[in-house]
Amino acid sequence: SNKIKNAKLVLLGDVGTGKSSLVLRFVKGQFVEFQESTIGAAFFSQTLSVNDESVKFEIWDTAGQERYHSLAPMYYRGAAAAVIVYDMTNAATFARAKKWVQELQAQGSPNTIVALAGNKADLLEARQVSVQEAQTYAQENGLFFMETSAKTAINVNDIFYEIGKFLSKF
Ligand code: GDP
Ligand code: MG
Repeated sequence: SNKIKNAKLVLLGDVGTGKSSLVLRFVKGQFVEFQESTIGAAFFSQTLSVNDESVKFEIWDTAGQERYHSLAPMYYRGAAAAVIVYDMTNAATFARAKKWVQELQAQGSPNTIVALAGNKADLLEARQVSVQEAQTYAQENGLFFMETSAKTAINVNDIFYEIGKFLSKF
C-alpha cells in the first residue's frame, strides 16, 4: 500500500549527548566531530518503509539546555514517539535522562512511545553506564532501549526502525 503515516518524534536529553548527531546520522547519513550546539530546537523529517507502510518522522531535535526547559512540552505533547538520549560515558546524563522519563510519565501523552538511547557506544573504554543498569531501568519503565553511536552508525537506523514498526501497528 502507499499509506503514509506522519509521526511526530522528539529528542530529549542533556546537552552534548549526541541528539543532533543522531538526527544527522539518521536523516543524512553523516557525522561531524564538532556538531554545533542546537539553539531552541531544530526540525527535520525522514521517511522509513516499515511493514508495507511509510512512516514519515517529523523530528524535533531539542537543545537540552535548562533555559529552554519550559519549551519542551511543546515538542513532546502529542508526540508519537520520544527518544531520550544519554551519553554512556557520562553518568550525569543518565540521571538527567531518568528525569525526562519522569517528566514524560507525569506530563506527556500516555500514548507516546518512549525510547532510551545510550549514545557514544563507540567510546567503550570511557563507559560510565553499564548496559545492565540501563536495560533494567528501561524494562522497569516500559521503554525501548538501545545503545547507539552516531559516529559509527551502530543502532541508529535500528532505533528509528523499531519505533516505526511499533507505530505502523496502529
Ligand atoms: P546534542 O547537544 O545532544 O545535540 O549533542 P551533539 O550532537 O551536538 O554532539 C555533542 C558532541 O558529541 C559532538 O562533538 C559530537 O561530535 C559528539 N558525538 C555525538 N554522538 C557521538 C557518538 O556517537 N560518538 C562519539 N564519539 N561522539 C559523538
Ligand atoms: Mg543539539
